[in-house]
Amino acid sequence: MTKPTFSSGRAEEFRANLLAWFDVYQRDLPWRRTCDPYAIWVSEIMLQQTRVAAVLEHYAIWMRRFPTIEALAAAPEEQVLAAWSGLGYYRRARFLHRGAKTVVADYAGQLPRTAAGLRELPGIGAYTSAAIASIAFGEAVAVVDGNVERVLLRQTGCCERGVGGSTAVRGALNGNAIQGLATQLIAHARPGDFNQAMMELGATVCLPKKPLCLQCPVAGSCRTRGEHPTAARQPGVVADANVALIQRKKNGKDEVFLEQRPSAASVMPGMWELPRLDGATLSQKPILNLRHAIMQTTFRVSVVEVRSASALPKAANRQWIALSDLSGLPLTGLGRKILLRLGLLARPEQNLQRE
Ligand code: SF4
Repeated sequence: MTKPTFSSGRAEEFRANLLAWFDVYQRDLPWRRTCDPYAIWVSEIMLQQTRVAAVLEHYAIWMRRFPTIEALAAAPEEQVLAAWSGLGYYRRARFLHRGAKTVVADYAGQLPRTAAGLRELPGIGAYTSAAIASIAFGEAVAVVDGNVERVLLRQTGCCERGVGGSTAVRGALNGNAIQGLATQLIAHARPGDFNQAMMELGATVCLPKKPLCLQCPVAGSCRTRGEHPTAARQPGVVADANVALIQRKKNGKDEVFLEQRPSAASVMPGMWELPRLDGATLSQKPILNLRHAIMQTTFRVSVVEVRSASALPKAANRQWIALSDLSGLPLTGLGRKILLRLGLLARPEQNLQRE
């Protein structure tokens, strides 16, 4: 297959139509109302693999708690993880924290102004560096995420990437070719808006399953207009998990018995959750059933009320936590979801009102 390119006329038209559409139809999102590089950095990290609706809830709270790079750098890790709780992929919070410490210690509190400079910071790769450099500093460097890639593959008529990035489905347009195409198209006068417009188009119009081609501002240059092969989705893994809810009242305080994951755990080290009842056969009806996805696995979770902590095997990593302290604790997403559903944990916005 020959390397796809846009003629200069087609590229010019594409840019103009895309930006005109973005100016009118872009969603009003809080990180689009700021030019603070730190705030843009936070939003870009939160948005990775996370729905905008979930990010909206956490972003405002995060920016209240850590309004500057200095505030984030000075915060204890436990507070940082607690503020991230519910967003998942906690490595992102740790990298953000480490990155803030590096910026304060080595860059006098100022983020580097280029994508190349930003990539020197922990946890900032090609995608995030391009997003921050273009949006906050106006550098003409193209962002390629899953949404942008899908738009470009459909525009050029190349096949789409299969599950796991299978080249058989993706065809001959490799990552370098996609990046090259995005770089050819980027609007040098408005690189940040162009990148956001491409991502917005993929997120709201050029949808993975049913693209809304009739509403698409760049349908005129599209080679496929919705007619494109996609790979069959692999069914996810489903697993069962049982957890224990144990509560008590001590010295006038309501407490819940929680377990801390080992610091060496590969997933969510050091985070707190309800104790697992691994392998236990449930003899009583669960007080709550819910589903929770962690990476490729969907867990069917049953929460069982257990009368006393002594009913569980002894373990050093379990302890009583006052309900009033839960909001400051780094909880796993599942732990947070259960405690919220049972009304034992206040929603983040309620905590903010109390602060
Ligand atoms: S015309 Fe349809 S397939 Fe092509 S870019 Fe627009 S929404 Fe996507």
